[in-house]
Amino acid sequence: MKAAAATAASVAVSVGVVLLLVPMLGGQPDGPGFWMSVLCPLLIAGPASTWQFHQTETIARQRDAIARMHVKLEDAHAELKRLHADLGEKARTDALTGGLNRGAFFEALEEAAAHGNGPMALIVADADHFKQINDGFGHLVGDEALCRIGRVMADAIGDSGVWGRIGGEEFAALLADTGRSAAIGAAERLRLAVAETKLLADGRPVPLSVSIGVACAQAPCAPMELFRRADDDLYRAKSGGRNRIVIDGREVDPVAA
Ligand code: GH3
Ligand code: MG
Ligand code: MG
Repeated sequence: MKAAAATAASVAVSVGVVLLLVPMLGGQPDGPGFWMSVLCPLLIAGPASTWQFHQTETIARQRDAIARMHVKLEDAHAELKRLHADLGEKARTDALTGGLNRGAFFEALEEAAAHGNGPMALIVADADHFKQINDGFGHLVGDEALCRIGRVMADAIGDSGVWGRIGGEEFAALLADTGRSAAIGAAERLRLAVAETKLLADGRPVPLSVSIGVACAQAPCAPMELFRRADDDLYRAKSGGRNRIVIDGREVDPVAA
């Protein structure tokens, strides 16, 4: 359409020029000369403008296609970024309980110990007689029990720190800006909540409890030294009878906590 209009305009200009100039030069604008002024623009401007407009439209279409591809590429990039973040999160998470996994928890501990400033506390909790739970109720019930302990950890710790599953039936929590008495309070909340968890398997109650070791320090501090102290106290809590808390080598009185 545009090409036809451009060709018609070329013919009109060509004819106009011939009608104007030929008489001025003393000639007659008729016969083959006139028809040449019509034919030449038809033969030259017609194909040329058709090709020109076709090219312009092709370029515009390609530009649109590139713009659409650009949008798709940006969407794909955003999706990839989200998947990468998800994957990073999954790599740090314990699939069973939703807490941090061992690697991520120890990273958090090292970070807090190196760059923290002020009191911090580490709670290490191990499920009691867990082998008996697996043997007596089955592995799936054991898994469910670990999930429940994880939920109790999350509730007991709240926003005051991070928690993770650092071994099969062993959990740990890191509390920032937390002194000795607040750490004992959190550990006792955790111990009580686990002991009060009502888990039934085939109508039979599954006995759940944890033994806990607690260690406190002023950050910056040595993370593995803090862990070793909490772990030693966890084993004292085990040998002291389980379902109890030990801090600095001494058992915590549940009533005082
Ligand atoms: P203690 O009170 O001394 O800690 O005794 P325990 O039986 O809990 O300790 P032990 O180390 O003898 O056994 C731990 C058990 O925990 C054995 C193992 O099969 C079980 N366990 C470890 N990881 C998982 C898990 O992901 N799911 C289930 N169901 N059981 C697990
Ligand atoms: Mg155990
Ligand atoms: Mg254990």
